[in-house]
Amino acid sequence: WAKAEGRGRWAVYDPERSAREIARSSLAAKLPTALDRGEFVLRYQPIVSLLEGRMLAVEALVRWQHPELGLLGPDRFIGLAEETGLIVRLGEWVLRRACRDAEQWRRGFPDARLVVSVNLAARQTDDPTIVETVADALASSGLPAELLQLELTESAVMGTAGEPLRALHRLAALGVRLAIDDFGTGYSNLAYLRRLPIHCLKLAGPFVEGIRGDDADAVADRRDERIVDALVRLAHALELWVTAEAVETGVQAERLRALRCDTGQGRLFGAPMPADRIAARLAGAEAA
Ligand code: C2E
Ligand code: MG
Ligand code: MG
Ligand code: MG
Repeated sequence: WAKAEGRGRWAVYDPERSAREIARSSLAAKLPTALDRGEFVLRYQPIVSLLEGRMLAVEALVRWQHPELGLLGPDRFIGLAEETGLIVRLGEWVLRRACRDAEQWRRGFPDARLVVSVNLAARQTDDPTIVETVADALASSGLPAELLQLELTESAVMGTAGEPLRALHRLAALGVRLAIDDFGTGYSNLAYLRRLPIHCLKLAGPFVEGIRGDDADAVADRRDERIVDALVRLAHALELWVTAEAVETGVQAERLRALRCDTGQGRLFGAPMPADRIAARLAGAEAA
């Protein structure tokens, strides 16, 4: 049966699809050497206090400086890296680089207490060596644990057995902050919030996008606003911080502040940028 089904799937020739498949597999083939050649770079996006406008943290976002194709976003290769398992090595590179950059900022601007937030894929949190890897990234960079935040997806938190991962308790015990990324878009139940030492919820972009403040689609708007309102209340009841993702307009920032959301991230506060531009911002804030 499987064979017949498999054949059936490939029987229909779709030139666009096969072009995509070829592009994908050639990217996949080049991923491991790209890491060895140092073709990955990090951008950092400010996470800003909605009350005072101060930059409290930055999220590390990986890019691939591809020799022919130019700067590729993670949507082009993170999925591939997850499928091939390379994400474990790539993720470790991101973590170490981000810790080193954050330690540079801390040395230059100790009063800023800027937190660096690093995405962890499910494959990484499943890896038994993750706790030692994080501990070593902190030790070898010199970055204090409380200036590192790890962003986990809901599915990563739940692991494969439906139990929140033990490793997360050990990670929290190192003193790092744990955040749930894209909160509200996963498939897991909320029981993990009772048991896990989470510090922050990141509200997924689509909820924020729904806040437009104009009269068009007013009903749908209000529904997204009410969801954000409820999620912020939930987070605060559990003494968690809330970061709204994909904040693009002043109206959204205004509404999010009114809903007591703590921090925002998005084009309004700055696109992902190279590490030296974060340093320039810290210098600017100090001068002001
Ligand atoms: P994410 O962790 O939810 O990151 C936020 C995404 O929102 C980023 O996309 C960011 O560039 C984008 N964004 C920033 N401002 C705005 C805005 O105003 N509006 C909208 N609509 N989007 C905005 P990016 O950099 O393309 O990254 C996409 C995803 O790739 C990330 O989503 C994350 O899941 C993954 N990713 C990125 N870097 C890493 C990494 O080092 N490791 C792992 N495992 N995943 C990563
Ligand atoms: Mg993230
Ligand atoms: Mg996110
Ligand atoms: Mg994400």
